[in-house]
Amino acid sequence: MKEEQAGLYIHIPFCLSKCGYCSFYSIKSVDLIPEYIAALKKEIKYYRNAFSSFDTVYIGGGTPSLLNAQQLAEIFVSINKYYKIDDRAEITMEVNPGDVSVEYFQALRSLGINRLNIGIQSFNDNVLRFLERRHSSRDAIAAIEAARAAGFDNLGIDLIYGVHGVSINSWKNTLRKAVSYKPEHISCYQLSLGDKTPLYKKYSLEGWQLPDEKTELKLFLKTAEELEDGGYIQYEVSNFARFDKFKSRHNQKYWQHVPYLGLGPAANSFLNNKRWWNKAAVKTYLNEIAQGKTPVEETETLSSEQMQLEALFLGLRTKEGIDLKLYKTKCGIDLLAQKRKIIDELIKNKLVELKKGFLRPTRAGMAIADSLALI
Ligand code: SF4
Repeated sequence: MKEEQAGLYIHIPFCLSKCGYCSFYSIKSVDLIPEYIAALKKEIKYYRNAFSSFDTVYIGGGTPSLLNAQQLAEIFVSINKYYKIDDRAEITMEVNPGDVSVEYFQALRSLGINRLNIGIQSFNDNVLRFLERRHSSRDAIAAIEAARAAGFDNLGIDLIYGVHGVSINSWKNTLRKAVSYKPEHISCYQLSLGDKTPLYKKYSLEGWQLPDEKTELKLFLKTAEELEDGGYIQYEVSNFARFDKFKSRHNQKYWQHVPYLGLGPAANSFLNNKRWWNKAAVKTYLNEIAQGKTPVEETETLSSEQMQLEALFLGLRTKEGIDLKLYKTKCGIDLLAQKRKIIDELIKNKLVELKKGFLRPTRAGMAIADSLALI
């Protein structure tokens, strides 16, 4: 079997302000960025012999666009010095609409970044204020236009739905606006609220609710319908691409148990059935690297049962579904033989189908993908 090329994730854990719904760990102390980059460079060097090559790189956060071109260049010099990056690698960076300009995007392109993911979330200023984003819909449009002017031909945008007070029609307007800019990729995430987030507290105080199951389903189906009409393929529960070639190659590695290396606080890595992740606090990360330690919090070896469960959970969220031959190679189990009865039942209920050696969720199955995996 041909060796799979790995994915490289670099985490930038800084945000100028905290969005009301966000449970991710990030800090506001941007003055730590130079020290952080120096530590990251040491971590990059540490893993220089662990992975043979990478064909995707993803700079995520946090807010990577808080780094200037010079700081990003330092990271890329280090990556290119210690790792073999495929000539045709997909190199993505997440950006916040308020931080960018044509010149900034041109600088990113000259570093080899060939895909952008813009955290737009909504084209409605009331919704952006409600979510406590620090950009406006005008910033969002300007960011898309600047990216195109700088020559980016692979743009993704992130949107959030299921927000209190936003009708299905208003959400459809945001989707139509998104489609009108023809981004190559659109991710639509349903709002979820961790109980430590300010927005969760606001919902509790005001007695607001997140959408119930019925509304969730309606929103999911409307989103899929609207984007399909706009020419997009729903290739995963939350992800849509204009053509197959615009599917996120990096994210697919996570879903298919392909090796990946994650650097920076809280970043996860996966290799040979082993998963490890770094400590989340930036200060701890910096201190441990300064002392010559690796900032790994924990390592686990996935048992065959865990591998099977994850392969089911992740595979049934994708349109392609589970490649039964690959499943047998990676998990050592003939899924059809093991679960024939329940799979027949799901086929009868039109939740999955068997096609060309793949077990695939139907649209109705995708809508309940997380519970499907419990078969
Ligand atoms: S910009 Fe992203 S990571 Fe930062 S607070 Fe907002 S949602 Fe969280």
